[in-house]
Amino acid sequence: MTNIRIIEKVGNNPGKTTIMITGVHGNEKVNVKLFDRIIPELRIDNGRVVFLYANLEAIEQNKRFIDINLNRAFIRELLDDEDNKLLEVQTAREIIPYLDNADYLLDLHSSNSPDSKPFVICEPQSFGLAKSMPCGLITFNWDEFEPGSTEYWMNLQNKVAMGFEGGYLGDSASGLRAEEALMNFLSLTGNINCAIRRVPNKKFLRIVSLYKNKESSFGKSREFADFEKLKEKTLIGTEGNKKVYADKGNILLFVRDREELDQECFLIAEEIDKENLLNIKEQDNLFKGGK
Ligand SMILES: [Zn+2]
Repeated sequence: MTNIRIIEKVGNNPGKTTIMITGVHGNEKVNVKLFDRIIPELRIDNGRVVFLYANLEAIEQNKRFIDINLNRAFIRELLDDEDNKLLEVQTAREIIPYLDNADYLLDLHSSNSPDSKPFVICEPQSFGLAKSMPCGLITFNWDEFEPGSTEYWMNLQNKVAMGFEGGYLGDSASGLRAEEALMNFLSLTGNINCAIRRVPNKKFLRIVSLYKNKESSFGKSREFADFEKLKEKTLIGTEGNKKVYADKGNILLFVRDREELDQECFLIAEEIDKENLLNIKEQDNLFKGGK
């Protein structure tokens, strides 16, 4: 039995291998529909493109996941534990050979939140390509706080990899944005010959902390805007009787009420200015400015 579906398309000319993934979260249907729509008509010019529908069971049930978050399952200890038969761990085992054979990865996601902003998740080796994605925000340094994503697995091999969060899953514009991301990506990897529309003025945000509730349930103090800029001493929420503030950084992401312990309650990021970005980008030797 398999929990993934693969469609491979090969160009007439040699080139790189790119993997494109949808359905890591099964309820993010907008990008599953995008794959259904574009794959039949897309022609690959160079190299090979593998389209992978992940977590078919979660897609079928319209759930984010069945047993655990697939986007935290690409962890060596989980995968090597033969007794671990959780559906998403088995699914990660199925996906890994395709990641290991690919040069580049684009993993498409969308958000449950109607006011969510589109953004890229990647590490500095992928900044050159990320700069051509149709969104204003590039976020990085996730792997330290939220290991186990598909990008995490590729980053361990220092490959170019990114997650693209296209916006609200109930908005058809998110699908169009993801389509533009996908086409731009394939153009920059050289898999298709087509011009791209550049989106300038990117902000770069470094993830600096993740708050997990260790002792009690967590409740947010109010609704926060996506990527809300915090004023000093903003109360983010309470864990039992304890008031919780940001310890560093000033941009708040994904605040969620949590009943169970040791859950991801929120993340904090800081904006990296141009000067500091130059130091980071020295590692960025691929896709300098695109092509
Ligand atoms: Zn997702």
